[in-house]
Amino acid sequence: MTKKPTPIDLEYFEKDQHDRTRRWLGATNLEAVRQSTVLMVGAGAVGNEVCKNLGLLGVGKIVLVDPDKVAASNLNRCVFFRPGDHDIKFKVDAVAERLPELATDTVVEPHAIPIQVAPDEVWDVDLVLVGVDNHYARYLLNAKNLSIEPPLPVINGAMGKDFVSVEVLAPPKTACLVCSWSKDFVDHVITNEVRTRCDPFFVDTMPRFPMISFVTSVVGAVMAWEATKMLAGLQQWRLTGQWQEGLKPALGRFIQYDLHKHKSMTGPIMANPRCTEIFCRDKRKHL
Ligand SMILES: [Zn+2]
Repeated sequence: MTKKPTPIDLEYFEKDQHDRTRRWLGATNLEAVRQSTVLMVGAGAVGNEVCKNLGLLGVGKIVLVDPDKVAASNLNRCVFFRPGDHDIKFKVDAVAERLPELATDTVVEPHAIPIQVAPDEVWDVDLVLVGVDNHYARYLLNAKNLSIEPPLPVINGAMGKDFVSVEVLAPPKTACLVCSWSKDFVDHVITNEVRTRCDPFFVDTMPRFPMISFVTSVVGAVMAWEATKMLAGLQQWRLTGQWQEGLKPALGRFIQYDLHKHKSMTGPIMANPRCTEIFCRDKRKHL
């Protein structure tokens, strides 16, 4: 007969998947995280890393939205994709199928559609994480988010060959995702999207920028860290305007890390009273 572990046995702690996380965050914060639901837009390299981190953390539910199937070229940086998935399996389904292998308490709800046509239910979450590779999706999801009352906090991840950038936003209290975009840039984003849809040659000749696994690991780690602080303290912040000591998100700020120079930078993201997004301008009037 095996001995039943008691709280004073080392075995007791070693059998608890969340023991070390609980020691790090505290029992109350871990429980808040476990009760949370997040929307992850994009199930590519960034989405894989964020889902892995949030799953291991014990986040209750991840609503995952991405219309694409797995491509062989994704395999150099996506932990949930396999060579046999190429052109067969939707990215969201691959993550939903394999994440529970390492995070048994996290439910993944997959939606293999673009965010702009996703049902309203996907927005019934605590916060939004953005890991998309195009500005058009950012533009549309920002408008949708600002039409919700209150808009959800947004953690936006982006990267280049050897740098990552994360923005932590809670519009209208902070800038929105497109506050820094000029009218010309918005026009360019929309024109590019039209060409992408109508011109296969344009799509085929679009540059594929270089990317490697550890760059997405860094951006996924920073996004998950900011999400963790938000999920732990969001309820208190909505009630009192205060975050917990030591768990204050970088709200209204960008965080950048240059892997080449090993240099990190952070700074405020200025809200724009003349933002191209009408919902942003309107909501800021009522602050
Ligand atoms: Zn704005």
